[in-house]
Amino acid sequence: MNNNISPAIIDKAGDLIHRAKNIVLTCHYNPDGDAIGSCLGMQHILKNRGKTVSVIVPNDFPGFLRWMPGAKKIVINKQNPEKAIDLIDHADLLIHLDFNQASRLDTLQEAIKNTKAKSIMIDHHLEPETFTNLMLSDPKASSTGELVFEFSATLWGKKAIDYNAAICLYVAIMTDTGSFQYSCTTDKVHSIVADLLKTGISPNEIYDQVYNQFSENRLKLYGFCLAERMEILPHLHLGIINLSQEDLRKFKNRKGDTEGIVNLPLQIKGIRMAVLVTERESEVKLSFRSKGKIDVSSFARKYFNGGGHYNAAGGNSSESLSSTINTLKKTIIETKISMS
Ligand code: 5GP
Ligand code: MN
Repeated sequence: MNNNISPAIIDKAGDLIHRAKNIVLTCHYNPDGDAIGSCLGMQHILKNRGKTVSVIVPNDFPGFLRWMPGAKKIVINKQNPEKAIDLIDHADLLIHLDFNQASRLDTLQEAIKNTKAKSIMIDHHLEPETFTNLMLSDPKASSTGELVFEFSATLWGKKAIDYNAAICLYVAIMTDTGSFQYSCTTDKVHSIVADLLKTGISPNEIYDQVYNQFSENRLKLYGFCLAERMEILPHLHLGIINLSQEDLRKFKNRKGDTEGIVNLPLQIKGIRMAVLVTERESEVKLSFRSKGKIDVSSFARKYFNGGGHYNAAGGNSSESLSSTINTLKKTIIETKISMS
């Protein structure tokens, strides 16, 4: 399979799966397309191998992912903690997908604390933390969906990835590559996607289900961000968008509505780093995107208690919205990060 994950580890993971009957799959807080797509893809593949498999996510996920095969049966820990605990108590194996720090499980961390189940992590973020029995980590992979495909195809052959699994893995790869535009879009990605298409899935329908399901309010929120809340600092190659709780209320914000907004400033010629600063109920959340040699992952880790990928990362701050923006600008100027 992958150059960066040794065959011995794949075999060991295959062995743990072979010996398990009840398997629980989890992903990170605020699940995105790769998190949900990888969990559901893996679920279909493992179910076809005779396993009893559940997906538990820490909190709710956006409506534009709810149409995916298996999504309606996902257990949301915040809404149904008893069910989550019960499934974890009966699990022989936990597979953690699309995150590499236990803290990203949020309240689910507590739920798995006393588990006797073995655990595997499959992920592509930088600087993994050791919190599982086995770690399949490849930061060069475009997405966890890519890793799930390669892992399953290596162990059980490409036929193990059926139509439903292919839909889910396609969503995972499409969303994490920005619809095949980011630099992580390799020849391998296209070759995996070709295999997925051979199962009969429809790329234009999947794209439509994920990206063209905006509410009127969501599209108006995009317009508002661009017209009223975007600050462009051309000399720093930087664009910052900020959103307050009041702004979000005004546009009747629903889960997932702010997704994609952070990318918008990068459409401007000369802008190489973009930040979305959002006032959440209990913290201020920061999303970072960059082009080329601007390492926003290290920046987010060092200054905003976060992490992620080289060109796409996130973090948070306990300061107010306005002081977070001030700290952010000061830090960007001092470190000259956007000038890299
Ligand atoms: P987003 O900006 O879309 O929320 O996240 C971009 C990338 O950074 C994703 O891969 C996500 O998993 C990661 N990320 C977002 N927020 C955090 C965070 O607070 N901590 C860490 N370690 N990673 C984050
Ligand atoms: Mn991912």
